[in-house]
Amino acid sequence: MKIRLAQYMGFCYGVKRAVELAVNSGGGVTLGPLIHNPQMVSRLARQGVGVVNDLEEVEAGTVIIRSHGEGPAVYERARAKQLNLVDATCPHVKKAQQAARKLTEADRQVVILGEKNHPEVKSILAWAGDDAIVVETADEVRALPYIAHLGVVVQTTFSRSLFEELISLLQNKTDDLAVERTICTATDQRQQSAIELAKQSEVMVVVGGKNSGNTTRLASVCEQAGARVYHIETAAELRPEWFQGVQTAGITAGASTPDWIIEEVYHTMEEMNMGNQESVKLETGMIVKGTIAAVRKDAAFVDIG
Ligand code: SF4
Repeated sequence: MKIRLAQYMGFCYGVKRAVELAVNSGGGVTLGPLIHNPQMVSRLARQGVGVVNDLEEVEAGTVIIRSHGEGPAVYERARAKQLNLVDATCPHVKKAQQAARKLTEADRQVVILGEKNHPEVKSILAWAGDDAIVVETADEVRALPYIAHLGVVVQTTFSRSLFEELISLLQNKTDDLAVERTICTATDQRQQSAIELAKQSEVMVVVGGKNSGNTTRLASVCEQAGARVYHIETAAELRPEWFQGVQTAGITAGASTPDWIIEEVYHTMEEMNMGNQESVKLETGMIVKGTIAAVRKDAAFVDIG
């Protein structure tokens, strides 16, 4: 069985930055889980970075704002409590928040395209102000009334094709449309390289939190590309029978999945593959680490087994 890695997978720039800021904070709490990956959240807890759900729970010390961002009220409350604030809001999310604020200040009705309950969308909404609207589906856009001056901001991880569809529908709702294209390329890159790999793999293993929206979307695009898909959080969930008679298997991972989990998955699959004389035994750890780095830099995918 050939095991291949997707070119783009795992931590995106914003998540990597947030984890580094949390690890280097010297201890504190994050406002909500830092990323949608329970294993990483437990590891951070062991390093002295806990989780609270509300600033009310914090009286002193360091509070870390996660990559999804927060609304202005949180900054004001932290300042009033004289907390040490570490702002790990992803710069792409910051840009969407600022764009929403700018459109509101320009007296436009702000429409945010995104998932209503996603923390990033809530943070953008908080910067846009009380009158902003969040829509997620074509039907919701069709139900909107005529809007004289419309300003659109998009959730950074929103589907590009759905975005284009909703924008063309919004053009029928106004004569004055301003669009801020705030979709982040990390999601696109991960989806495109997952699709490419899935088209050439019988089985795709998608690694990431079951509560991670972007990982779940990766699993569904791999399925649409024709692969048999297994969405797992850790190597412990892998089953040898998934790979029986399989010649080509691929691995991809969501933007909140750390490299060490991807490496464990790879090693476990390699062990399950040991009966296959054609498989190449790799040294543990370093080579796979190097392989993941090389894959990200050079090729569409790399054969590693
Ligand atoms: Fe930032 Fe994009 Fe990663 Fe979201 S997916 S945290 S916007 S880099």
